[in-house]
Amino acid sequence: MQIQTKLPKVGTTIFTVMSQLAAEHQAVNLGQGFPDFDGPQALRDALSAAMAAGKNQYAPMTGIPALRQQIAAKTQALYGRTVDADAEVTVTSGATEALFAAIAAVVRAGEEVIVLDPCYDSYEPAIELNGARAVHVPLDLAADFAVDWQRVRDAMTPATRMIIVNTPHNPCGAVFSAADLDALAELTRGSGVFVLSDEVYEHIVFDGAAHQSVLRHAELAERSFVVSSFGKTYHCTGWKVGYCIAPPALSAEFRKVHQYLTFCTFSPAQWALAEVLERDPAHYRELPAFYQAKRDRFRALLDGSRFRLLPVAGAYFQVVDYSALSDEDDVAYCRRLVREAGVAAIPVSAFYETPPAASRLIRFCFAKTDAVLEQAAERLRGL
Ligand code: PMP
Ligand code: GLN
Repeated sequence: MQIQTKLPKVGTTIFTVMSQLAAEHQAVNLGQGFPDFDGPQALRDALSAAMAAGKNQYAPMTGIPALRQQIAAKTQALYGRTVDADAEVTVTSGATEALFAAIAAVVRAGEEVIVLDPCYDSYEPAIELNGARAVHVPLDLAADFAVDWQRVRDAMTPATRMIIVNTPHNPCGAVFSAADLDALAELTRGSGVFVLSDEVYEHIVFDGAAHQSVLRHAELAERSFVVSSFGKTYHCTGWKVGYCIAPPALSAEFRKVHQYLTFCTFSPAQWALAEVLERDPAHYRELPAFYQAKRDRFRALLDGSRFRLLPVAGAYFQVVDYSALSDEDDVAYCRRLVREAGVAAIPVSAFYETPPAASRLIRFCFAKTDAVLEQAAERLRGL
């Protein structure tokens, strides 16, 4: 029997594949993006306390008020934008759910969504499941993966319904400037096009730069869904707690999807995060310095290697060019690296519809303890 499936192109994600290979070869896993250390003890204690205190039933559909208020307070403090915790903030089961719900809320069958390649792997399946089509516009490799706004403009058609952006960027580590926000605002002005801004690495921006959240831009914020994830901010990717901030009318549509997709998010974690956000805002304020030190250490450790290191302005990934070491394509090279050198990485081509010809780029995650970074670098320097 021929079964007509909805996602014929989708297989196992490269993150799962590389994590499995890393385990098989007892390799150092710098592939899948997750910290190999825990979040603050106070957060884990607060989670246990919330469970012991009986916070174990359904949370309100939109998230517990205390957490939504903390998210609103953080948004005000960091981006100078007042958001209504009741009407504009929704707690979700990770950023992945929020991305899906935002797309499902406004993108209709037959429409187009512009994504900027390389891009995170969950965008396109979410677009396709909603009967729409992803239109891929490449970032400018020669300009450290900046957005070429003219190319985005050229890709817009009457069917364009949404543009998805990601800053700080996975996998490239590029970040938006204020000028990028202006360009995006100009491009979408009066067009009926929504912006979905994936800002899961909002607290991981380096070299004294400020995160250019879409929420800083009054005009853009009016037509945007802004998505973040506590998994990145609190080193707990397995908790899958994220959120979406959008104007009241967009949040209302977003919640119609969220209500039937998951209804609500794991209650004890919401109580724990609300408490820690209130008690210790220093945690996310100190996160840039924490990860910058890891970036600098990893880069210094790779100094004597034959990899060419691309710049990293944010997020926790180091992209390297391995063309001095091999002429293989990046998937083949990653498979050999994990087998022969005992280090797992992610091929950057996995984030593209059409990877640039002869690009020789792989991604290492540096959200790892110093000992693990040292062990990996020692193996990589020997190549
Ligand atoms: N967007 C990007 C750019 C990511 O890197 C990730 C996870 N690594 C997500 C979304 C998904 O976040 P979550 O785990 O909270 O669903
Ligand atoms: N976002 C993580 C990464 O980029 C992976 C998440 C996943 O495995 N789905 O590595």
